[in-house]
Amino acid sequence: MTDEDGLPPLRDVINSYGLRAEKSLGQNFLLDLNLTGRIARCPGSLVGETVLEIGPGPGGLTRAILAAGAEKLIAIEKDTRCLAPLADVAAAYDGRLTVLNEDALKIDESALLSEKAHIIANLPYNVATPLLIKWLKNRERYKSMTLMFQKEVGDRITAEPRTKAYGRLSIISQWLCRVTRQFDISPKAFTPPPKVTSTVVKLIPRETPEFPADLPILEKVVATAFGQRRKMLRASLKSLGGPTEEILAEAGIIPTQRAEELSVEEFCRLSEVYRKRQ
Ligand code: SAM
Repeated sequence: MTDEDGLPPLRDVINSYGLRAEKSLGQNFLLDLNLTGRIARCPGSLVGETVLEIGPGPGGLTRAILAAGAEKLIAIEKDTRCLAPLADVAAAYDGRLTVLNEDALKIDESALLSEKAHIIANLPYNVATPLLIKWLKNRERYKSMTLMFQKEVGDRITAEPRTKAYGRLSIISQWLCRVTRQFDISPKAFTPPPKVTSTVVKLIPRETPEFPADLPILEKVVATAFGQRRKMLRASLKSLGGPTEEILAEAGIIPTQRAEELSVEEFCRLSEVYRKRQ
């Protein structure tokens, strides 16, 4: 029996290649074709587009991305056991899939991509946040990022001020990208099921960041403010040096406010005042 793409169903691929899921590699495979298809549609039409996929595993999402029309798909997989099943996918989609047996944290994407690409990935949870930060810092290379995270991380990326999930990841992601939560996926959809619900988030890099600010300074101000998130800003920002209350006043921020009450715009204003006083 084969699927629509002429390849065997994923469960058979996993069994015939003996792909027992490795916990240390964050392996939870998504076998539901409705869901892989739905993820592959998040960026919009992929016809003629270049896509980077991290962690293709046995190739479920990979097949959905190719079936959605991606012209060129570069997939980075650390687990050598997945190379044989992925070679079968590459053969079925003549020349459109290139698989690299690399660690996604270490690769230099600029050497791989000659044009702007979409990133689509069901990310290994243990490296999801460092990968997102790496891509945000090089966001000009990407048209969109459709990424699956554990729900708690998805909540942090999309959080609004005055919520528990709002913090560094919300501010940096939303400052640099238009961020939208797409949908949640139950643990039951995966083999083996993870302990938590997953969330698909779409990030579209902004041409220019939403408000003027310098990334390293903004990161430092945000990290310092949220390092003591229960304290008022006049206290939590003291370690940055300078006349804290005067700096807050210059940025138009009430010094008794706490980190989670400031919008992305207010954090940018504040970091600009620190930058000018350096
Ligand atoms: N894409 C498949 C799916 O949706 O069923 C598998 C997703 S699974 C959550 C994560 C995949 O990332 C695994 O195949 C794992 O081997 C791979 N992986 C883990 N760490 C990696 C790394 N540092 N670089 C590249 N791939 C990695």
